[in-house]
Amino acid sequence: MISREWALQGECRGVDPDIFFPSINISENTRVAKDICARCVVAYECLDYALAINGTEGIWGDTTEDERRVIGRRRQNRINDSR
Ligand code: SF4
Repeated sequence: MISREWALQGECRGVDPDIFFPSINISENTRVAKDICARCVVAYECLDYALAINGTEGIWGDTTEDERRVIGRRRQNRINDSR
């Protein structure tokens, strides 16, 4: 199991989860969530976790699901190119 100890330092602790997993007001909540992530000291760890578990919805590490898909593809391409 992948550790989530970093989450204890997340800037989103105590924030309404609907902000990070919006089903309504999606663009506004996404903007608010990303503003919070932008000041988070564990954003890198959070993004890495989201990429590792693949397919997680919502905002993680200052990225949307679509943005993580692009990052994941780039990482995979770099791995493939280095072989
Ligand atoms: S990067 Fe964003 S979602 Fe991840 S722990 Fe920090 S505030 Fe929470």
